[in-house]
Amino acid sequence: RALLARIEATDPKVNAFITVTADEALTAAQEADKRIAAGEMDVLTGIPVALKDIFLTRGVRTTCGSKILAGFVPPYDATSWERLRERGAVLVGKLNQDEFAMGSSCESSAFGSTKNPWDLACIPGGSSGGSAAAIAARQATATLGTDTGGSIRQPASHCGCVGLKPTYGRVSRYGVIAYASSLDQVGPVTRDVRDAAIMLGAVAGHDPKDSTSVDRPVPDYTRSLVPDVKGLKVGLPREYHIPGLDPDVKQAMDAAIATYRQLGAEFVDISLPHTDYAVATYYLIATAEASSNLARYDGVRFGHRSAEAGGLVDMYNKSRAEGFGAEVKRRIMLGTYALSSGYYDAYYLKAQKVRTLIMHDFLKAFETVDVILTPVAPTPPFRIGEKVNDPLQMYLSDIFTIPVNLAGTCAVSVPTGLSQSGLPIGLQLIGRPFGEESIIKAAYAFEQ
Ligand code: GLN
Repeated sequence: RALLARIEATDPKVNAFITVTADEALTAAQEADKRIAAGEMDVLTGIPVALKDIFLTRGVRTTCGSKILAGFVPPYDATSWERLRERGAVLVGKLNQDEFAMGSSCESSAFGSTKNPWDLACIPGGSSGGSAAAIAARQATATLGTDTGGSIRQPASHCGCVGLKPTYGRVSRYGVIAYASSLDQVGPVTRDVRDAAIMLGAVAGHDPKDSTSVDRPVPDYTRSLVPDVKGLKVGLPREYHIPGLDPDVKQAMDAAIATYRQLGAEFVDISLPHTDYAVATYYLIATAEASSNLARYDGVRFGHRSAEAGGLVDMYNKSRAEGFGAEVKRRIMLGTYALSSGYYDAYYLKAQKVRTLIMHDFLKAFETVDVILTPVAPTPPFRIGEKVNDPLQMYLSDIFTIPVNLAGTCAVSVPTGLSQSGLPIGLQLIGRPFGEESIIKAAYAFEQ
């Protein structure tokens, strides 16, 4: 009840929620009380969580931040939410996001932008902007987001939270609306590293309903909550010293490096030579996969159907024209172009090859280091409206996070300080594939 009151008081300003599930939450909370009274207490029993509106929730409308899903109420739950629910977590609502998770600022949502609770004139980051803003505004104890090119880590960094993108295949994508299937991954946004470890442990693991989820034991991540980085080898990639790096971010990184040195970590200069090509590669692969995934929204089976349509093809066209926002249309066009005959080899196939080179850069680096340290975003949170008319500028805000998705490995964003104007800045720790334990340990030591 206190939390629902908090949402009611703060959300008119923050706009983190698309849907608040107050009645369902109170019923589930009573259920949790009963479980606790019966001595069946789990670490998640009665814990209020909220989900990015990309997760299917049975009986609760799911929008993916788009008008095209108008009226859609899923008949089943995403596996990650099902796992939390079964352990007694309570859903308080569905969170705002960029439409179909395409964006870095939460401004492309059909439900208005979410504001950064640290400064309401600024973006919270995206696409899981609602997931991070809700944690910063204390509207939920933990949230889930998805990360295709930075969408968990970048908003976590901008809102002063912890955000963890697991290794591709660590968490099931079943029941998560697809943006770019070979890059999408589910992960937690939380107040601290301990909560992230608990949430990751709860959602990770093989799911027969997602053939890309990996059948590999899930460690107890809370065992990695040990503040010890003595002798840890931390890589600093040469290519990440980019000209556009904000001086406040640079300073926060230098301070973080000094802290790790004091704690006994050893720094190693490394090279990830194909970094320069990561953003271009990502925008070919992500848009190609998106153009294919989004073909299902045709006004026939569910979601928005144009009232104006004359015939079948006209109905497809009008429903899609009315239902999708500008950024989604831009990506469908880019992706369709990249996949079209005659261009497929030149763009899509080439991008896949470069992706392999980027993956090898990381694997080579991990022969000599345990984790890699970088900024999360090149700047602190920018002002709402500042980059909406400059998609290329917007795309560059994910320059440090995108390579991790292309390589399929894991990374966490941890708060590291404030900018001159008092806005949060995060650092990114990248781990080996399935090396979540080492990044949790390194993040926890820093947080302490
Ligand atoms: N900002 C990137 C994009 O727009 C990443 C988004 C994401 O991770 N979902 O594609």
